[in-house]
Amino acid sequence: MKPVKLIIVSMLMAGFASAATAADKAMIGISMPTKSSMRWIADGDNMVKTFKDRGYKTDLQFADDDIPNQLAQVENMITKGAKVLVIAAIDGTTLSDVLQKAADKGIKVISYDRLIRGSKNVDYYATFDNFQVGVLQAGYIESALKLKTTKGPYNIELFGGSADDNNATFFYNGAMSVLQPYMDKGELVVRSKQLGMAKVATLRWDGAVAQSRMDNLLSAYYGKEHVNAVLSPYDGLSIGILSSLKGVGYGTPKLPMPVVTGQDAEIPSMKSIIAGEQASTIFKDTRELAKVTANMVDAMLSGKPVPVNDTKTYNNGVKVIPSFLLKPVVVDKANYKQVLITGSNYYTEAQLK
Ligand code: BGC
Repeated sequence: MKPVKLIIVSMLMAGFASAATAADKAMIGISMPTKSSMRWIADGDNMVKTFKDRGYKTDLQFADDDIPNQLAQVENMITKGAKVLVIAAIDGTTLSDVLQKAADKGIKVISYDRLIRGSKNVDYYATFDNFQVGVLQAGYIESALKLKTTKGPYNIELFGGSADDNNATFFYNGAMSVLQPYMDKGELVVRSKQLGMAKVATLRWDGAVAQSRMDNLLSAYYGKEHVNAVLSPYDGLSIGILSSLKGVGYGTPKLPMPVVTGQDAEIPSMKSIIAGEQASTIFKDTRELAKVTANMVDAMLSGKPVPVNDTKTYNNGVKVIPSFLLKPVVVDKANYKQVLITGSNYYTEAQLK
């Protein structure tokens, strides 16, 4: 009796000990762009939790949307002995030098959510299907305005994300793949004629910048005409755009709020959706992205095949980065309870009150 028990116990202990030592050795540097948006705080927290549960140490840093700050933080992770760097870049093109230093030390790099461009020293990319995000945002406008069955014309204005974030172009192109045919037929009209990322981008995804651009658009192009839809790629911009619209009287029975999209299902936007202001957002489950990233790290560090599901889409200018793409989900007033509360426990009902 005793020997059997002992053997099992010591086998278990040996198993745990070796797993723990292997993981104990690995410190994972996690570099997030900013705390100004709740999604990145959630990403950071979820990753720390997921990595710790698997026995890793972590060093989580937020860079305040300041590029030199992010570079210094990543350098510091290298100095501290990180084995893997997980980086959501502020500007996807600024990391080449620091990543060369990482590569020289054999450190692996995962590009997290945003593609790191212009460097060969990126091993994998964990993200959502970014083109599909744009398709879903524009698809929401298409169905809310019933574009398939009515001819309009409806007025729309377009907002893009930060042009130095590779995702922003994917979102915009995805959205335009749905909207362009209606523009070509004159069923959707951009009165400002501001089209293309060069004209519609919003540096650093700044809501205040979007709000003042919306103020300008409304005063220059919407004296008598009304705007019926606003393509917004991110909740933080949507909140700015909505305050601009409310400032000139939208959101009343006489002047209904245009269909305003968003992304990230951030709490202020969820409250706005529930209140009937913002129309929709895109839910990207950051817990799942943390898991995908941790699975990549586990596989890389143990020499096993790294789970990827896309080896074509994300060319970073130097090479195609093998990627794992998760599915984004549209959320509006009709489905938010099911998607965010009962279906996923992402939020509690109380958090959205
Ligand atoms: C992310 C979006 C986010 C945006 C602004 C993008 O890179 O993919 O989820 O809305 O950055 O933070």
